[in-house]
Amino acid sequence: MATTALFRDDFYLSTNEAVVTAVHADGGIELDQTCFYATSGGQPGDTGFLERSDGSRIALGPAVTGATKDIIIHRPLADETVPIVGETLVAHIDWARRYKLMRMHTACHLLSVVCPYPITGAAVGEDESRVDFDMAQTIDKDEVTEKLMRLVGENHPIFVQWITDAELAANPGIVKSKNVRPPTGLGRVSLVCIGENSSVDSQPCGGTHVSETQEVGAIYIAKIDKKGKENRRFRIRFGAPGSDA
Ligand SMILES: [Zn+2]
Repeated sequence: MATTALFRDDFYLSTNEAVVTAVHADGGIELDQTCFYATSGGQPGDTGFLERSDGSRIALGPAVTGATKDIIIHRPLADETVPIVGETLVAHIDWARRYKLMRMHTACHLLSVVCPYPITGAAVGEDESRVDFDMAQTIDKDEVTEKLMRLVGENHPIFVQWITDAELAANPGIVKSKNVRPPTGLGRVSLVCIGENSSVDSQPCGGTHVSETQEVGAIYIAKIDKKGKENRRFRIRFGAPGSDA
């Protein structure tokens, strides 16, 4: 059964009441609705716990998608007990971790504005994220950091616009990723827009993002690696340049 993905309408939702709809043989738990983001599009799934009515907790590793993308599986850590189908409980995500992932994920979008090249890969992490670009030229990392921090400081709004799969198919130019497919298949696609009237950027993305660029905070490009003749890997970290040297 499809899981109602509450995070799609509210990236800041960190807890919700839910009913267990299935428990898999491997312990995977399906809920009728959840604020847990499941691993996809380069963003890791949420961790956290399920709180049962007696107050006991079931600790969870990163959530993943199930047989289809609209099913979200909550995965108990080893040796945790599992709930029963029909049970009502409360899902809680590790908000500190998720918020870092939201800030980092948003930073990746800003990087794609500063470096307008096709994206060949991306991985969002709590401490470091990486974005690979199809580009041959060399670029100064401090200059990129400066441009990133300018966008952060300008505090542009970030919002989601929904378009249909057909609208996306009619406008292939808005997709920046070369190898990563946009999150189609649900009939509608979320466009993540930055700036008034998307003046800074808009990009199909199913991940979670902060609502204004200032929330990203201090970030910098720690490293730019050459990955082949026409590929550059950018590593983004929190803090100021040199703060982890
Ligand atoms: Zn995104």
